[in-house]
Amino acid sequence: MIHLNGEFMPIEQAKISVLDRGFIFGDGVYEVIPVYSRRPFRLEEHLARLQSSLDAIRLANPHPLSKWTELVAKIIAGNPWDDQNVYLQVTRGAAKRDHAFPKGIAPTIFLMASELVPPSPELVRDGAKAIVLPDFRWLRCDIKSTSLLGNCMLRTLAADQGCVEAILVRDGLLTEASASNVFIVMNGTVLAPPKSHLILPGITYDVVIEILRAHSLPHEVRPVAESELRSADEVWVTSSSREVLPITTLDGRPVGRGKNAGKRGPVCARVYALYQEYKAKVMRAPAHA
Ligand code: PMP
Repeated sequence: MIHLNGEFMPIEQAKISVLDRGFIFGDGVYEVIPVYSRRPFRLEEHLARLQSSLDAIRLANPHPLSKWTELVAKIIAGNPWDDQNVYLQVTRGAAKRDHAFPKGIAPTIFLMASELVPPSPELVRDGAKAIVLPDFRWLRCDIKSTSLLGNCMLRTLAADQGCVEAILVRDGLLTEASASNVFIVMNGTVLAPPKSHLILPGITYDVVIEILRAHSLPHEVRPVAESELRSADEVWVTSSSREVLPITTLDGRPVGRGKNAGKRGPVCARVYALYQEYKAKVMRAPAHA
């Protein structure tokens, strides 16, 4: 069951105008909210990021938080899985094709859900392959825009080489990956690029930084050079669907040195375990009204 502009229906029945600016220009923003045991994870943070994305593209938020919360709850209840990804999208709506944002048109509001399948235990244990590519996307990667052609092209280049992710560098610095944020470990210290217009402020990124802080694990949020990425002891990517996933092969070479080369590193293993613990604790806490 999906939601489109105030109505719930099976996805096959959902129809939008071919003049929708989401279709014509990619003029819209979205969120993907993970749901565990039918409870949305970090919903308030996802809805706050939605507001920032809407503000950045001068699109009025069509709903107050309470209404979004209700819509998300209805989508969760209307779909069969206990663990889901709720996808939520707002586009500017249908108007005569003209680049400048038109005024006074109704936005298109769409929510759907899919089954959430976390990375397999084998992948989490052994890690995944990634390649490094130049970040050729635009300069507003902080907006969670539906215009994802750059990300799609980069992810496809990674897939062509049997890799799960493309890790991106711009002007000699690590930015993020095609659909995740990136952390590295150097000599026991976790390094994360600071938030800026060049990366998406990941909800999972925030959870990981909170965990590092709460457990006094050495970390620095600072620009990370491409050379540091390439010589790191550990590389991991984070996202709502990938959680904390080790990258153990980068451009065909094992990540890390010595006995840990090409294996998941100890810091990643620790942070992964703490992330799972945190998730379980949040899911057990009483639901607030
Ligand atoms: N960067 C990009 C480009 C992404 O698409 C995503 C996933 N939506 C992320 C980072 C990670 O964000 P989150 O932790 O909120 O899923």
